[in-house]
Amino acid sequence: MEIKDKPCLAIVVPCYNEELVLEQTTEHLIAVLDNMNSVISSGSRILYVNDGSADSTWDIIERLHAVNKRIAGINLSGNCGHQNALIAGLSTALRFADYMVTIDADLQDDETVINDMVHLAQEGHDIVYGVRSSRATDTWFKRTTAQTFYRLMSRMGVKTVYNHADYRLMSRRSVEALLRYEERNLFLRGLVPLLGYRTAQVEYARKERQAGESKYPLTKMLSFAFDGITSFSMGLVHMVLWLGALFLLIATGITIWVIICIIQQKAITGWTSLILSIWFCSGCILISLGIVGEYIGKIYMETKHRPRYNIKDERL
Ligand code: UDP
Ligand code: MG
Repeated sequence: MEIKDKPCLAIVVPCYNEELVLEQTTEHLIAVLDNMNSVISSGSRILYVNDGSADSTWDIIERLHAVNKRIAGINLSGNCGHQNALIAGLSTALRFADYMVTIDADLQDDETVINDMVHLAQEGHDIVYGVRSSRATDTWFKRTTAQTFYRLMSRMGVKTVYNHADYRLMSRRSVEALLRYEERNLFLRGLVPLLGYRTAQVEYARKERQAGESKYPLTKMLSFAFDGITSFSMGLVHMVLWLGALFLLIATGITIWVIICIIQQKAITGWTSLILSIWFCSGCILISLGIVGEYIGKIYMETKHRPRYNIKDERL
């Protein structure tokens, strides 16, 4: 009876080419599970999601699963991206777990606070965000770009939790709710706050990556940020509208000026200004079209309703 009453915890870990850190990560996470034996059920486990790694990540997961049944894994058929890998893991964990914690494979996020997350969940919080109290170990560049990103997001009206990445605990019902958001352009940090359940936060100091390298180089980070903004906010389109209005105003000013010149019979000198403005306006129109195109592209993707991932193997 006692065992049944204890909630089952799944630690969902997306892995893309993480062979260098997996063993170490497993040791740490198993220690976390062992320490919580009195509060969580014995069926609690780590669920690795191999996101189409090109290295031996899946072989390692299979090997770990063979020796310890607290280590489970699913193998996606290709690289579907971090956010989709998380969804794949969460939907799979829903089959057996009551609480799901998502954490990166590199353990930059302090895994020991999972304990606090579970306690907060038991107090009735459906979502517990892991929030970085300091970014001292991040490079100056990563820190600045990330902070600019959070500010930009909130300027654009997208609700995100400051300094929170994808390290969080979610209850069964909040995951079920999340899965009802069927969009393909996934930005979980924007979606989860929309769910509206009772939330809490735990703070931790972010560590350095244990081994291997970041899977988010600048280009991927920029496209992630752009995705986040265009998936959740019409801010960019509004900016284009305001820019268009400003241009009309300027054009009106120029027209008035030209009319005055004609009345005063002053020759309009030089074509430079005219040519310049043609080029400038054309540039702006093209940028605007590009942004509008981005939204249309997303509508297009949404209407396809493609599956987000396909699971190739399971070791549960
Ligand atoms: N990841 C993934 N698929 C990808 C890219 C990354 O599953 O296409 C995983 C990666 O293995 C890690 C997590 O997402 O567990 C976060 O990546 P990383 O630590 O490299 O990002 P950073 O902390 O540098 O932003
Ligand atoms: Mg990392």
